[in-house]
Amino acid sequence: MRLSRSLIPTLKETPAEAQIVSHRLMLRAGLIRQQSAGIYAWLPAGQRVLRNIANIVREEQDRAGAQEILMPTIQAADLWRESGRYDAYGPEMLRIRDRHDREMLYGPTNEEMLTAIMRDSVQSYRDLPQMLYHIQWKFRDEVRPRFGVLRGREFLMKDGYSFDLDYAGAVASYRRMLLAYMRTFRRLGVRAIPMRADTGPIGGDLSHEFHILAPNGESGVFYDNAFETIGLGDDTLSYDNQADLNAFFEQMTSLYAATDEKHDTEAWNNVPAQSRREGRGIEVGQIFYFGTKYSEAMGFSVVGPDGSKIHPEMGSYGIGVSRLTGAIIEASHDDAGIIWPASIAPFRTAILNLRQGDAITDTLCESLHEKLGDAALYDDRPARAGEKFADADLMGHPWQLIVGPRGAANNQVEVKNRRSGERTELSADDALTKVL
Ligand code: ATP
Ligand code: MG
Ligand code: MG
Ligand code: MG
Repeated sequence: MRLSRSLIPTLKETPAEAQIVSHRLMLRAGLIRQQSAGIYAWLPAGQRVLRNIANIVREEQDRAGAQEILMPTIQAADLWRESGRYDAYGPEMLRIRDRHDREMLYGPTNEEMLTAIMRDSVQSYRDLPQMLYHIQWKFRDEVRPRFGVLRGREFLMKDGYSFDLDYAGAVASYRRMLLAYMRTFRRLGVRAIPMRADTGPIGGDLSHEFHILAPNGESGVFYDNAFETIGLGDDTLSYDNQADLNAFFEQMTSLYAATDEKHDTEAWNNVPAQSRREGRGIEVGQIFYFGTKYSEAMGFSVVGPDGSKIHPEMGSYGIGVSRLTGAIIEASHDDAGIIWPASIAPFRTAILNLRQGDAITDTLCESLHEKLGDAALYDDRPARAGEKFADADLMGHPWQLIVGPRGAANNQVEVKNRRSGERTELSADDALTKVL
């Protein structure tokens, strides 16, 4: 992509409305623009990040055996009356009336809708277990939308739901998702820690929130520092092997990690003092077992092998796709700007032409651009070198290919790694090999 023809409106000044670094950088790097409180438009570079994150989430859900669907954003109030949540949900729900005066709402989550779909589609124990998910916009009329996409009102979420015949099956689904989540975050290039979370009236230990550590996080977190170094869901584990899933669950849950809401000082005191870490975290996902709460309330049952009626055991599994964009920036930036993990960067490489209009420099840049294709952003603007350096650092591309007239004459390029700051002078071919 050519920067001269792209809508990537970077800002030199710090926008006054942004209180925290990720929000400032998302505005300054031209990723988003606010439309109303907590409602954002995603510009080309921002949309590329969002799509990259969603694709990794999708691939890991599919790999874990979940099926992708797409449910609507608008739901009927009557559906939520069936579960009793229409009144219980309160002012966070955006309620709408259509032209026939029917009560509708913009979905904050989809337990009711999918339970109703399953109720209409599944009759026998043979049809279970099933796990389904979608990646769809949600609306929650947050009291205090803030910190940009970290707490929006309209936001993109992956929400998945499992349906099992019994508790043991539900536990297996939960453990499968725990592994899928850890693999997802690892591929996104961040470390997220599974923390014990509130299970509500159901009790038990089957709810975890996944937190990215960052000083601006809204939650206080307490964790064993082993989480800073242990492997998180490596590829040798198999979804087809329940022993693998159990061992992984055991490993993740035997180490202490809890948010302030669930902090247990007695258990904390049993963690060796040198391993205790306290900090702040951003909730980027949550997994939850809630039993037959919705299947019973909404009359969803299947016929068991002996003809008896079974209310499926359910769980739900959320990931904040749009929140992750901001959370990853909170965890990965410096004074100059964003430092994108390569897997989600809008562009893996930027080509900086330091002498636009110089025939030799232009020719080399064009040929690099052609070879790198869509993964590269070519800064072909007639701008000063200093401006190009500053914008590339701000936008956070993992690699920069810096091309000036002197190097170009010898087919030489300077390669800069954004994270380490390391710069090396290489031939154009070697530079391409390095960034590919
Ligand atoms: P929070 O505690 O931050 O309000 P939540 O616990 O209400 O989040 P869940 O119902 O668990 O959220 O939804 C699943 C995921 O959706 C969360 O882990 C989070 O990553 C994301 N999410 C929730 N609310 C928002 C929001 N207002 N803006 C952006 N992402 C959100
Ligand atoms: Mg909330
Ligand atoms: Mg929460
Ligand atoms: Mg939550």
